[in-house]
Amino acid sequence: MKPIESFPRAALGFFPTPVQKLENISALLGRNIYIKRDDLTGIGLGGNKVRKLEFLLADAKAQGAEIVFTTGGAQSNHAMLTAAAAGRLGMKAILVLKERGVTACVGNQLLERLMGTDVRFVDTDDYADIYAEMDRIGKELGRPYYKIPCGGSNALGALGYVACAREIAGQGLHFDHIVCAEGSGGTMAGLALGAKLYLPGTTVHGMMVDTDPFDKITPALMRETAGLLEIAPEITPADYPLRDMCGPGYAIASKEGNAAVKLMAEREGIFLDPVYTGKAFAGLLELAKEGVFAEQDNVLFLHSGGAGGLFAIEM
Ligand SMILES: *Cc1c(COP(=O)(O)O)cnc(C)c1O
Repeated sequence: MKPIESFPRAALGFFPTPVQKLENISALLGRNIYIKRDDLTGIGLGGNKVRKLEFLLADAKAQGAEIVFTTGGAQSNHAMLTAAAAGRLGMKAILVLKERGVTACVGNQLLERLMGTDVRFVDTDDYADIYAEMDRIGKELGRPYYKIPCGGSNALGALGYVACAREIAGQGLHFDHIVCAEGSGGTMAGLALGAKLYLPGTTVHGMMVDTDPFDKITPALMRETAGLLEIAPEITPADYPLRDMCGPGYAIASKEGNAAVKLMAEREGIFLDPVYTGKAFAGLLELAKEGVFAEQDNVLFLHSGGAGGLFAIEM
């Protein structure tokens, strides 16, 4: 296996992020529930994209990029964090966003305003149009540029969550289950592959908050990421159990998600978000109710960030 250290990595975040027990929610559920605080990754408002950007932006730098393009919806946490991180590394971010969702100057749009980020909207549902627009702008500006896909979810980005699995292994507690949100796939694919490498006996559950075919996306990205590491582990559906928690649609709050956001806020003083982590934690509550977790099991919830959405998405 090629060591993760052999990939260039920009130091952007505070790692390892803390793992803490959710004492009140554990008492409520009669289960041992822990939280991995990837909402405290240390740039912007924190979040999972920082781990991916450490690898993606180091690659951009190594390739001599001056401009970094990325995309997402109007309230994309990934796009906002890309702008924050690229700026710190001396590159200029241009966000070519889908004109979908809340485009007003609230939430992540407000944060981008504060950073002076170059934000452009394209009225399309097709990412092919977006990537074509990036090439058009890049050629027009005539500077070396680098394109990061939606959510930073390619193999290089997913490597950030393989490294996170190794980080969890080094934090001392065995977890029988890890639960995370799945929106573009890199976090789940990285954690699920990383669990195979570093966390024997741990099942990673992906809580789908969008309607893409994650049953195909997840194993494909796991294999591609394994390919980067020059390994080819056997991957079966048992390695990436998925659950549909999307509700009324991507970036539209769900009743279950909102209840989970409120529960975490009331009992633990920790804020989830309506687009990703609230829906994902609602999925954890369902798994607990269905008896998927045994009484002595340790369960780890990945708090992947998303605070910006709290100030933009109607709940
Ligand atoms: C992007 C995002 C996710 C989903 O991660 P993917 O790697 O895109 O599947 C989860 N939580 C938050 C807060 C995010 O911004």
